[in-house]
Amino acid sequence: MSAAETPAIVLSGVSRTYGDDVTALDDVSLTVKRGTFLAVMGPSGSGKSTLMHCAAGLDTPTAGSVVIDGAEISRLDETRRTELRRERIGFVFQSYNLVPSLSVADNITLPLRLAGTAPDRAWISSLVERVGLNGRLRHRPAELSGGQQQRAAIVRALAAKPAVVFADEPTGALDLRSAHQVLGLLRDLVEDLGQTVVMVTHDPSAAARAHEVLVMADGRVVDRMLAPTAAELAEELVSLVSAGQG
Ligand code: ADP
Repeated sequence: MSAAETPAIVLSGVSRTYGDDVTALDDVSLTVKRGTFLAVMGPSGSGKSTLMHCAAGLDTPTAGSVVIDGAEISRLDETRRTELRRERIGFVFQSYNLVPSLSVADNITLPLRLAGTAPDRAWISSLVERVGLNGRLRHRPAELSGGQQQRAAIVRALAAKPAVVFADEPTGALDLRSAHQVLGLLRDLVEDLGQTVVMVTHDPSAAARAHEVLVMADGRVVDRMLAPTAAELAEELVSLVSAGQG
């Protein structure tokens, strides 16, 4: 398989159990092609976070394998796993996770400096311009709106040109307008730059902005929908929640 065809993520038979009686992930197999914007949706407790943590090498599955950009992350020791995460994976969180005492510019390059990698200035400048933060680089995070902070966090996630960006409820703390902008930005990064983005969300209207939606229930993938509408996703979620209660 040529490098261009190597999928961004391949999960094969991934399970994650806690103790004897909690199965957070139950035999999940999944391939995410490069240049895809995939949302992972499902009721609370369905395994979305566990799936993301296993796929991103933050957690180790109890069974199965996780291959990121051709590298089997689930078999690496902790040191190599951390290296691979730094080099190949970007993260965007609900609460931005910017360092309050650092400028926006220093926040953006912090992971690269921690990894001992020289930042690609031209690449980072092009990202800063794309997200409209040119005039804000010297500001502290607290001087920015929530939407601007999340856009800074997205530039930080992309700075190392990762194979995959994982976004965990990236619009959970934003007003509707900023949420719409951030989701549009993620989609543009996928469509224009071929970036792969996996976004965990419980919000059907956010998930509907992705190209594909994986629907989870009880630790399993129960549906994979191409370009669903928010109404279709909301309906699916309601039926899963009522089935879970039945
Ligand atoms: P979601 O992100 O969809 O809300 P999670 O992946 O957080 O779901 O959780 C899936 C299941 O695994 C839930 O039943 C949760 O209680 C359980 N779980 C998650 N993390 C732990 C843990 N550290 N210890 C025990 N159970 C856990």
